[in-house]
Formats: sequence, structure tokens, C-alpha cells
Amino acid sequence: SGTRKIQEYREDFPILSHSSGDERTVYLDSAATSQRPRQVLDAMTRYYETANANPHRGVYALAVASTEAYEGARSKVASFIGAASPQEIIFTRNTTESINLIAWTYARSILKKGDEVVIPVSEHHSNLVPWQIVCAETGASLVYLYLDDDGYIRDEDIKTKITARTKIVAFAVVSNVLGVEVPVRRIVEKAHEAGAVVIADCAQSIPHERLDVQALDLDFATFSGHKMFAPLGIGVLYGKKDILKDMPPFLTGGDMIEYVTEQHATFAPLPQRFEAGTQNVEGAVGLAAAIDYIEAVGYDEIRRVEKEVTDYALDTLGGLPWIHIYGKAREGDGRYPVMSFTVDGIHPHDVASILDTEGVAIRAGHHCAQPLMQYLGAHATCRASISIYNTREDIDALVAALKKAREVFGYGS
Ligand code: PMP
Repeated sequence: SGTRKIQEYREDFPILSHSSGDERTVYLDSAATSQRPRQVLDAMTRYYETANANPHRGVYALAVASTEAYEGARSKVASFIGAASPQEIIFTRNTTESINLIAWTYARSILKKGDEVVIPVSEHHSNLVPWQIVCAETGASLVYLYLDDDGYIRDEDIKTKITARTKIVAFAVVSNVLGVEVPVRRIVEKAHEAGAVVIADCAQSIPHERLDVQALDLDFATFSGHKMFAPLGIGVLYGKKDILKDMPPFLTGGDMIEYVTEQHATFAPLPQRFEAGTQNVEGAVGLAAAIDYIEAVGYDEIRRVEKEVTDYALDTLGGLPWIHIYGKAREGDGRYPVMSFTVDGIHPHDVASILDTEGVAIRAGHHCAQPLMQYLGAHATCRASISIYNTREDIDALVAALKKAREVFGYGS
């Protein structure tokens, strides 16, 4: 790794040069899903051209190649996130499935009436609705950590709401709406003091900073490949082996059993026990290539590029009196490249539609975080998010399009 000109990263992503006519594709929705570099697309094509077969099932050469590709990807993920062993890596479809797996197996088997699950109010529905359901089923209660005016989790809530009744604390390392720092170590320390298990939803953090599950002492961690340059349909659940090995299975059927009789089945060891059915080898291969891409660029370089563009965006948008940005970075804290904002006098959906006519892609809506929207007193916001392939030109295009939206609605800029 080393520093390249920011513009050069953009060239790794074929979709960004597939614009219609002269119009530049301004993609500012990487928090929803990232674009994929050529290196990832090529790795998946190569897999289908040279190694495709149903993994784990055949003794012939292609099946062995497919199994090696799949298990090689697992080992790569394990070392990438600092897991103790590849057995601690379960491939899923995405973060949502990873969290549901924990909720439906681990949580359902340990929670009782009187127990509590603690989550911040800023969580994505995928780390919220499963807890509502599993709490309702087991009689446990769902308890919230609230935020201060800058969007930070209140320290007072961490102190008082994580107690001996708490069995699970689940939180996003970076909120997909606010982009401000979450005190991960503080929450993990408090949860473990209380004897609770910690689940870190790393969907929005792993595209931007290294995850080290052992250094953070996480019990579970989840993320989606598609937000970190890998294909759709592949996600990861990390779990400490000591916890995973006692968990009941989730989906059942082929590939996850040891021995089956008419009335009974015993189950395969980790990690196969949690991977029923034919696995997504293509996705795992793409995820491995995405990890290689991230490692080749380097997280420091990713951070440098994203910070430069994010700081420029915050400065430029911050200078427009009719823009309100949610989530305020504090001195010394990291600001992740996710910015939610509203434009005075224009509904976020109208803003996003007008921006689209200008070739600028942003997200508008509740961002799958309705309890947060209710807490903030906003129905919806606009969200611009930044990745390695964005440049200052993208931000200039965003600002020009926002000014255009104000004109369309009859406001002066
Ligand atoms: N958690 C967070 C913080 C997210 O941003 C997202 C995706 N927006 C998810 C979970 C869910 O990810 P997926 O849709 O890939 O399951």
C-alpha cells in the first residue's frame, strides 16, 4: 500500500465510468451498498471459469477446488478480523441474517422472564426487530440506551442500564444514520462486568476501519460483504468458539448434519452446523478478493481519502444555512463518512429525486432506523455516504444539485 491520487481509486470501479453521455456518475450511497472494484468482479468470474462445483460434496477435482476456494475465504476472513480460528466464522447472507441467527438460536435458548437485552435507540431495524420478537417470545425486556444532542450514546445510560439483569448488549459500531463515534470499549467493558454477552454490528465500520474481534473482546460480530466491496448475498457471523459450540442450529437440512435416521439427526461440528444448504462460494470468493483489495489499499489510506472528502463535505454543507446536519463530531473523535441532513423547506424524498435528475445518488428516508427518527423528531433525512472512490468533485456536484433543488422550490441559495 501507498498513497495514490484520490481520482485513481475511482478507476478501479467499472460502474463509475459507465455513465450515460457526458454525465459523471456521482455515487454517494455507499452506506447502503458499495460499488465493486474490478479485482472482485474478476475473482468471481475466475471462480466460475476454473473452480465451480458444489463444495464439500464431491471427491473430484472441481469439487475440491470449490471447497478450497470456500474454506480459503473463511480462513482469510478469520485472519482479517483477528479471530482465533476459522471455525469461528459462519457465512450468512448478510448482517440481518447473522443477527437473526444469534437471536433465534443463542438468545432464544438463554433468555428468561426478567432478563434484559440492551441496545442503543440508533440501531438499524436489523439489530432491533429480532430483539423485539425474541423478547416478546421469552418474556425478556428490551431496554434502550439514548443519545445526547450531538448523537452520542449517553454515558449515563451505559452506566445505569447495563445491569445484572442484562444478558445481551447489541450495538452498531457505527450508526448508518449518524456517523459519530460509539464508545465500543466502554460498552464491552460494562457489559462483561455485568456478565452479559456483546454483539457488535460492524456493517458500517468494517468498510472504514479494521475490526479486531479479540482486541475488542467481542462475543459476536456481524457484517455484510456488500458494504465492503464484496458481492451481495454474503455476510459473516463471528462468534467465540466457546459460545458457538453450545448453540442450537438455526436452519437445518443438507450439509449441516453428522448423521440422520428416520426420527433423529445429529449435527456437524463448527462451522458447518450453521451453514445449511449449498453455500455461496461465489460470494465467499468475492469477499476474499474484497479483503485483498482493502489490504492492498490499506485502512490508513482508506481513512485518509475518506477523511479528506468527508471533511470537505462537512465544511461545504456546514456553510449552507439551509442545511441541517445530524450527528456532530467532537474534538478528537472520528467522524465516519456517513452524513445525514435535511434541507430547509424540502422533503428529503424531493431532494433525492431532484438530485437524481442531476446525476447525484443519495439516500432519503428513515434509513431502516425508525425509532431513531422518532427520537430525533425527524420523519426522514437525506444521507450522503462516502467511500474510497469519491472525490471532491462528487461533493461539488452534490452541493450544486442541492442549490438547484432550492431553486426548484423557489428559494434563493
Ligand atoms: N446494520 C447496519 C448498521 C446497517 O447499516 C445495515 C445496512 N444498512 C444493516 C445492519 C443491515 O445490513 P444488510 O441489509 O446487509 O443485512
